[in-house]
Order: sequence, then C-alpha cells, then structure tokens
Amino acid sequence: MKNELKQLLRESSDIVFFGGAGTSTESGIPDFRSDAGLYRISTELLLPPETILSHGFFKRYPEHFYAFYKLQMIHPKAKPGVAHVTLANLELQGKLNGVITQNIDGLHQMAGSQKVLELHGSIHRNYCMKCHAFYPLQAILESNDEVPLCTICGGMIKPDVVLYEENLDTDIIEQSVRAVESAKVLIVGGTSLMVNPAASLINYFQGDKLVLINRTPTPFDRSADLVLRGNIGEILSEAVKD
Ligand code: NAD
Repeated sequence: MKNELKQLLRESSDIVFFGGAGTSTESGIPDFRSDAGLYRISTELLLPPETILSHGFFKRYPEHFYAFYKLQMIHPKAKPGVAHVTLANLELQGKLNGVITQNIDGLHQMAGSQKVLELHGSIHRNYCMKCHAFYPLQAILESNDEVPLCTICGGMIKPDVVLYEENLDTDIIEQSVRAVESAKVLIVGGTSLMVNPAASLINYFQGDKLVLINRTPTPFDRSADLVLRGNIGEILSEAVKD
C-alpha cells in the first residue's frame, strides 16, 4: 500500500493536497477529535470547542472566547512538521498544484508552500471590527489576558478565522473547488472529514486517484482508491524517499 503511494508520487503531477488538523498534530498542535484533541480537554467553561469558537459566543462573551482561543488555538512556537515540509517540496518539484487546508495555523506557508487555500482563515490575520485595521498575531499575543482592542479606534479585534455559524469565503471555496476539479491525484490527510462544507469538497474530485491518509477511519474511506492508516508525516516522507 505504501509502495503504491510512492509510485503514485513518482509518476504523477497535478496533485492537490486537502488536509486538516491532523496535519499539524506532529507539530504539537492538538486536533479536535483525537484522544488528545480539544474535545477531550475539559475547558473551564465545560462547553464543546464548537460552542466557544462560534460567532454567537464570540459576540456575547469575547473575554471567554479569547481566553480559550489564546490557550488552545494559538501555538506561536509551533514549527512545520515533516508533512508540511514534504508537501512544500512536492510543490517546488512541480508535482503538487496546491494545498487546501482547514487549518488556521499557517504552518504550510511557514514550510514554504506558496499555493495555500485556507478554508477557515488564519490566526496570523486579525482585523478591527470597526475600522478594519489589520493586526498581526503579535497584537493578539500582546493583549495578554485582555480582549484585544484596536489602537486606532478602540474597536474589538477579531481573528480572520471562520467561526462556527459563519460562512466560508466564497472566493476561497470557488478556488478550492477548481483546484479539486482539476487535480489528477487528490491526497486527503489528517482530517476526520466531519466538518462541512469543507469535507464535501471531495465530491468535486473527478481525477484518477483519491488517496486518504488518516490515523482513524473517515466517512470517505470507501470512496478512496488508496487508504493509508498512520501518521501523515511518516507516510508522506517515506513515500518521497528514493
Ligand atoms: P479533526 O480533529 O476533526 O480530525 C483530525 C483527524 O486527523 C482525526 O481523524 C485524526 O485521527 C487524524 N490525525 C490526527 N493526527 C494525525 C496524524 N499525525 N496523521 C494522520 N492523521 C492524524 O480535525 P479536522 O477534520 O481538521 O476538523 C476540525 C476543525 O478544527 C477544522 O475546521 C480546523 O479548522 C479546526 N482546527 C484547526 C487546527 C489547526 O489549525 N492546527 C487545530 C484544531 C482544530
């Protein structure tokens, strides 16, 4: 099975990667649904992450939102893992047309990937809700225990991440659909494929091979040509070894 991926990567171009939180667990960032994921971490508020990371909760309790967000969603010291680096190299070799990610951590770009579509936004972009002034991640980190406020107008700063109850950016969705539609090989990795509409992107694939790499089963396993169970970093890096 692993040799099959090796051969596929050797022979293919027009590959697209679609990933999720599992791509970054090897960088020390917890996902949602693994044993060490955020669902299992009992928050002080005893609410599921979807509730705390929702638009309504953000508006009603920004101080609680930010307490959770800064502690659990921002990992300023995280470095790209082997999976991120391998994908960046595949792009450099002209084999990979792009990465579509549900992650907000920016690690693909840090690894050198140029073509990254961030379906759920990024912790690295933040905007004042009143005057739309831009703030980097540092501004959120420097707000310490407080809700970050705009230094120009005093408005509240909101991370450019798609919260639950919010719509995805239509332009990013359209670009992602086009990328999936034009891929010959689609590698899906480190995602439970439980979060829609992101997961439904797979339905647009009309290429030759759908590869799924995940530690645990997903609802799309039966549609895949190749299913590989294990750590995505190990599997991808082994597949590109000579
Ligand atoms: P998820 O937690 O629902 O699923 C992660 C999947 O990855 C699980 O099925 C798990 O078995 C698998 N996995 C974990 N580590 C792996 C590894 N090293 N190799 C292979 N598989 C591994 O995550 P999701 O599907 O991305 O959906 C959750 C939502 O949470 C997304 O919308 C995402 O935006 C958000 N999120 C992002 C981050 C981040 O930016 N790093 C972290 C947590 C949650």
